[in-house]
Amino acid sequence: MKVVIVGGVAGGASCAARLRRLDERAEILMVERGPYVSYANCGLPYHVGGVIEHESSLLVANERVFREQFAVDCRTGCEVVGISSTDKTVELRDVATGAVTTEPFDKLVLSPGAASVRPPLPGIDLPGIFQVRTVPDAREIRQWVERGTSFLSGMEHYSGFQTVRPRMRAVIVGGGFIGLEMAENLVGRGFDVTVIEMADQVLAPLDREYGQLVKDFLGLHGITVIVGDGVAGFEHTDDESLLVSTQSGGSHPADLVILALGVRPDVTLATAAGVEVGELGGIRVDERMRTSDPDIFAVGDAVEVRDFVTGQWSLMALAGPANRQGRIAAEVIAGRDSAFRGSQGTAVVGLFGSAIAWTGVNEKTLQRLGDTDYEKVYLYPNSHAGYYPGAKPIAMKVLFRKSDGRLLGAQAAGEDGVDKRISHIALAIQLGATVYDLEEVELCYAPPFGSAKDPVNFAGMVGADVLRGDMPVSHWGEENGAFLLDVREKAELSVEQVPGAVIIPLGELRARLDELPRDREINVVCRSGQRAYYATRVLLQNGFDAKVLSGGMLSHAILSAT
Ligand code: FAD
Repeated sequence: MKVVIVGGVAGGASCAARLRRLDERAEILMVERGPYVSYANCGLPYHVGGVIEHESSLLVANERVFREQFAVDCRTGCEVVGISSTDKTVELRDVATGAVTTEPFDKLVLSPGAASVRPPLPGIDLPGIFQVRTVPDAREIRQWVERGTSFLSGMEHYSGFQTVRPRMRAVIVGGGFIGLEMAENLVGRGFDVTVIEMADQVLAPLDREYGQLVKDFLGLHGITVIVGDGVAGFEHTDDESLLVSTQSGGSHPADLVILALGVRPDVTLATAAGVEVGELGGIRVDERMRTSDPDIFAVGDAVEVRDFVTGQWSLMALAGPANRQGRIAAEVIAGRDSAFRGSQGTAVVGLFGSAIAWTGVNEKTLQRLGDTDYEKVYLYPNSHAGYYPGAKPIAMKVLFRKSDGRLLGAQAAGEDGVDKRISHIALAIQLGATVYDLEEVELCYAPPFGSAKDPVNFAGMVGADVLRGDMPVSHWGEENGAFLLDVREKAELSVEQVPGAVIIPLGELRARLDELPRDREINVVCRSGQRAYYATRVLLQNGFDAKVLSGGMLSHAILSAT
């Protein structure tokens, strides 16, 4: 059996390696247009920033490894330029010589990735404007960043006027995770950075309040973030820099522009082969990664997959799904009964020592789908036991089914332990778990790492309390004329008060119940929701109609900023 794999990075390389492990006799040809296979494109922003110093560190495996260890005929600088699904052949073009040859296949795997979105804006091809997709892209950006610094060589310790350079300015077009990682790395390189995002928030997979949280956080680190404004064009200025103009009439000088407007599935070959392309513009595949042609498979950023939670077709340009899909395609080709479960878009972005992570569906998607069978909770648990030094709060939003408690999605932000909590919840979602399961899950604990009630348990307990009726919740903006009761201590009120709220600190509540109405819903607020929960328990057991304002003043701060 001869298998031809197009694209030698995440999906393609995993497919080739897995197939060889399963089938010693298969003839495997992997072709890659670029100069490298199996490189870490996820590391590119950090190479630009100098965190990953050597380009060679990004090259996870090379052509020789594939040839010698996996007996894969691996060809770089070789592009597939045509497919005949009837003859079952591909046309290969040698990028250096232009020579075209034909190769037969029994099975073909497409893993061509996605192309960076590059709108035809005036001036988009000017020098100094880059995208970040490949190792050569990162090399060019580094060379641009370092240009003009050669006169400083050997003068690192000289503090005279010669070493004073004006601060460089970078404009990042697009506030997705690649744009924000580039922003952080360019700040590390000493740039003044502006991010311009056309949507009304950065990081589209987050709900708006979490997008706002990230925007504010970037602001604290000196990054100017402009949302709701698109770039209109680029100009070269007299002083050899660039001017980025926006649709609202803004203009932003820049020494460097990074285009990070997202990606579009590369379906050139799929279209040529006549296989089905879906409404979102990706190659349609079944759960075995088979296209509409049973001998042609497709994986990675180029395909549309089922969203694990909503069941809708979706595009998930992430390395984890691409690797797993490549593996599954190999297993199916080797005759195994493997299937892809769908993707839930689990991701994390590190920014200035903090992290923001998410998994599953967000609330705005549920609303767009008209799905009302969900509840949400906001919570702010510590990353580890509060008495052990260094504990940091994690802002968490967890969405789950109102009807049965099944977990739907979660978002979290903080300085410590964010990734592992979202990873745990991601696993729980994939196993179809509920908030009741999170209550019970046994996680490792010692004071430096977590709490006896881990934030994940805590999320389950809060969600389960809501569903059992032990902790009815309401949300900011939905108070609907409820009586507002603030149970914080007086000293805390100097920071921020809730207009119209009656103040009864938790410790005084039992003695002052006669000050509260019995004919109105009472919404109870504190700093994070914990004391409001205790107060709500007191009120419910004394016959009041009480609810916790989920996430208290911490949520109020996030939500009121949007
Ligand atoms: P790619 O890895 O893009 O590989 C496709 C390859 O196919 C390309 O090398 C291309 O040259 C080749 N090709 C295309 N057409 C042809 C042809 N006709 N003939 C021969 N070769 C062809 N994901 C995460 O989950 N976490 C991250 O932190 C993360 N960071 C990222 C940072 C950056 C800067 C980038 C660019 C991506 C990042 N991703 C991240 C996304 C992740 O890298 C992709 O989802 C993943 O690489 C997709 O794998 P793929 O095999 O579909 O495509």
